Amino acid sequence: MENSKGPVWVIGEQVDGQVVTVTLQLIGQARKLASQLGTTVEVVLLGDNIEEQARNIFSFGADRVYLGNAPVLDQYQSEIYTDIIVKLAKEKEPEIILLGSTHMGRELAPLVAARLQTGLTAHCIDLVLNQENILEQKIPAYGGLISIICPEKRPQMATVAKGVFPLPEVETGRTGELITLELAADLKSRVRTLEIVRTKPDGVPLGTAKVVIAGGAGVGDTNGWAEIEELAGELNAAIGSTRPAMDNGWADPESMIGQSGKMICPDLYIGIGLSGELQHMVGISGCRIMVAVNNDPKATIFEQVDFGIVDDCRQFIPLLTEKIRQHRSG
Ligand SMILES: Cc1cc2nc3c(=O)[nH]c(=O)nc-3n(C[C@H](O)[C@H](O)[C@H](O)COP(=O)(O)OP(=O)(O)OC[C@H]3O[C@@H](n4cnc5c(N)ncnc54)[C@H](O)[C@@H]3O)c2cc1C
Repeated sequence: MENSKGPVWVIGEQVDGQVVTVTLQLIGQARKLASQLGTTVEVVLLGDNIEEQARNIFSFGADRVYLGNAPVLDQYQSEIYTDIIVKLAKEKEPEIILLGSTHMGRELAPLVAARLQTGLTAHCIDLVLNQENILEQKIPAYGGLISIICPEKRPQMATVAKGVFPLPEVETGRTGELITLELAADLKSRVRTLEIVRTKPDGVPLGTAKVVIAGGAGVGDTNGWAEIEELAGELNAAIGSTRPAMDNGWADPESMIGQSGKMICPDLYIGIGLSGELQHMVGISGCRIMVAVNNDPKATIFEQVDFGIVDDCRQFIPLLTEKIRQHRSG
């Protein structure tokens, strides 16, 4: 189906030859937007030896995949990836370009947007078309949800974190058009990724944890954070954080929950010494039971959780840990 509107693009991402989840989730949302616009969903996928993975993408809702297949594309290379995507975008004129808020997407999206001289909204938590078919890129700001629009320039560009949109249903046997890009023989770059070293997170991984203990600025200092870690250890919980807890150096950067961090959906979330700002709360909307500990009875967090404890966390958390320990030992 071709249309006067350009296609909706998803810049695909692969790690070790496997297409990452957020790419597939974005294809699902791109499908909805493209249906409304009466246009196609197209994915740009760069890597090495990934033709089979590229073909799998059709079953998630893509109509066309542009595949860049070359050894040099095996790992993300900022300049080379940018050059290829910008050249193709100038030729194909997509209406919308979506990327995951991954390490790659966070760097690549602004590089591409700057070269295409268009706008970009980072860390969107929803994407809808308004009555004029302009993309409303929703982010939490000014104490609520706002829509950023890019009415004049094209493409309209946005990044979205893993977990914001669900995985689309797989349509087995669905096919599309696979176009292998003709790449320059010597893809030049002043910057080269030589190696990606992955560190294993300490403790329980946040993304799959059943219980998450999240700490905020109110935890106070590294001693307070050690108390959070002790409680998490006792409950076999993953540790999450707000931005200030991360900025203060108490929490691992990978532990930040929210708009610019991770989206989580544990059975139990305990938020300690955090105020409940929307940028954090959007990351926990999928949690089943939510508990907050805050010494301010008027804290916003209390309006959003199932159980609230008004207390100084430095008093309450060590006591709670001790009680759990006693209970465990019978
Ligand atoms: C574009 C953008 C993106 C952002 N993305 C994120 C994101 O992804 N994740 C995120 O977390 N933030 C994000 N932020 C920051 C966000 O807006 C808030 O500033 C942040 O979430 C607040 O963190 P906090 O609740 O720890 O701190 P505060 O708002 O300072 O709250 C601290 C709370 O601790 C309580 N307290 C203090 N002492 C104690 C004590 N002894 N015992 C118990 N309670 C106590 C206080 O009453 C207060 O409610 C973003 C901001 C912007 C502008």
